[in-house]
Amino acid sequence: MATKTQAQIYAPQPDAGFSPRLLIVDLTNNTTETVYVKADMARKYLGGAGLAAKIIWQETSAETAALSGDNPLIFMTGPLTGAVPYGGRHIVAGLSPLTGIYGEAHSGGHWAFRLRSAGYHGVVVRGRAHTPKYLFISADRVELRDAATFWGMDCYEFEDALKELEGNKVSTAAIGQAGENLVKFACIMNDGKRGRAAARCGLGALMGYKKLKGIAIRSAGAAEVADKKALKASVEKYFPKVKITNAVRKTKGRELWDSLWQMGRAPIQNWASGEFKEVDDTIVDVLSESAKYDFCFGCRTSCVESRLNAQGKRHTVWEALCPIGTQCLIADYDAVHLAYDYCNQYGMDSISLGATLAFAIECAEAGLIKSDLLEGLDLKWGNAEAMLAMIKKITFRQGQLADILAEGTRQAAQIFGNDAERFAMQVKGLEIGAHDPRAYNGAAIENATSTFGASHMSGFTSIYYDYAVKEDLEGAEISRWVATERLSPYQVEGQGKLTAKAQDFICLLNSLTLCLFTNSTDCFGRPPLQPPSYLDFLNIATGWDVDLAEFYQMGERIFNLQRMISVRRGISAKDDTLPERFLTTTRGAGPAGENLPKLDVMLTEYYDSRGWSADGIPTDEKLKSLGLNECL
Ligand code: SF4
Repeated sequence: MATKTQAQIYAPQPDAGFSPRLLIVDLTNNTTETVYVKADMARKYLGGAGLAAKIIWQETSAETAALSGDNPLIFMTGPLTGAVPYGGRHIVAGLSPLTGIYGEAHSGGHWAFRLRSAGYHGVVVRGRAHTPKYLFISADRVELRDAATFWGMDCYEFEDALKELEGNKVSTAAIGQAGENLVKFACIMNDGKRGRAAARCGLGALMGYKKLKGIAIRSAGAAEVADKKALKASVEKYFPKVKITNAVRKTKGRELWDSLWQMGRAPIQNWASGEFKEVDDTIVDVLSESAKYDFCFGCRTSCVESRLNAQGKRHTVWEALCPIGTQCLIADYDAVHLAYDYCNQYGMDSISLGATLAFAIECAEAGLIKSDLLEGLDLKWGNAEAMLAMIKKITFRQGQLADILAEGTRQAAQIFGNDAERFAMQVKGLEIGAHDPRAYNGAAIENATSTFGASHMSGFTSIYYDYAVKEDLEGAEISRWVATERLSPYQVEGQGKLTAKAQDFICLLNSLTLCLFTNSTDCFGRPPLQPPSYLDFLNIATGWDVDLAEFYQMGERIFNLQRMISVRRGISAKDDTLPERFLTTTRGAGPAGENLPKLDVMLTEYYDSRGWSADGIPTDEKLKSLGLNECL
């Protein structure tokens, strides 16, 4: 299988033109090898999420177990990583141990830049080590090293230990104890206490299964591109300089906080409520006063979710307070932030963890968890002490209940039985992020149809609604392509079509591996980039002559390929749905208080606009038109 794959995707020497350099690591045989992506493959699958999907398609089958040496764990950057502003991101992909289908996670920080400046675009990890290992990469050295002394460390300790060994120009991507213990929603953290997470889909459990503690990269310098001078000029042309002060950041943080609440996005009490009055509305301002803003590589603004507290640890607002706090009716922000810190330290996805805790509380209150399983823990709404204790138990799989919950909500519900599935708020096995699918109809479709399970970022549709699309964007390229007409968040007609286009565009950004906020005004008033700007960067960096039509088709091809990985593993229209609560119970408060997404109607339009069958399968005609003959 590997030989066939290498013959199709890789070459031992670089092709003429853009030919990304990858490191192939075989943990079973303790070997590493440098290969190059063939130029035609690079142009077809772009990089990041696209190239990773191509490798997964070729290296796995319908039968490949997610926790197996045959499932590759892929770290991938894109053609613009480390070369343009907001280009400090990488993706991690593989078959997900949590969902069993295509799995993808994204992270910012500085690790991706270090990988590029060490001369690699990606790392493909095959096999499984006999004893714990870590991978060390620098511009002149690649080593698989013994990690026995590091196994059992948390993500902060591992980064500190490697900095001690190799100096400050080291960044690590590592698992903590959750990944080592195969917690199914374990994540891969990078940059230590700065707390950047490739969070979703439980890929930290795959890394733990492979006995790979981390990848440490020591490098400095710049990422290579085809024409550095021209790229600099293009960046100056398309990225207007904006001056951001902390006062502006504070104001914009407050505006974002208010708008998320006003839109009705907050997850409350396992999505059963629309209000949580105990939340201190001043918390966003209080936190802004003490925050130090952190910047991913190349970021010019920083954002409200990227800050450090006085101890230099990652410190967020919405993505800490909501998935864990409001979900469990806990308004004690100190406790919530400690829980968030546990997630980053032990290496767990805070979204899936929060959803799992809320699920467990609701099951306990409904009498679905036998009292002996609780071992005296008072698991109820608002009990911060029990919440914190449960997080530690899940990390180390201490006790039968923690062991069950460490499998994620879908699997735990099956074990509890008695219709516990109704409290498991997941799609295709992946828990729903902290943005309510009832808040705007695009969120309902993107969560139902994202290629890797529930995701509020797979389409980012909210930026295209009439309240978000600014007048000065009238006629802008992105509006012409994605949002051909202005929609209201609750409108039914047009949402399927909009979501399909928006998802394809996000696939492009995740393959270029740029921050998604370049696509919106969320970066504190900086105008969103338009597709021609991304395309200009891409062509200059690679030496290509891609036009807009080819660029858009790349996004559509990548989305369809990811879908086909999951279709091959049994996914179809039956799985493109939402938990019943979102379809039958209103939030009851706020502007979205009465909205129930008409998912069936919107999905029909969605499949139709994608050229898929009514069963949610890309047709042969569609696959051929995208050049995906390997999926026929
Ligand atoms: S806007 Fe936030 S997530 Fe994006 S690059 Fe900047 S700090 Fe990172």
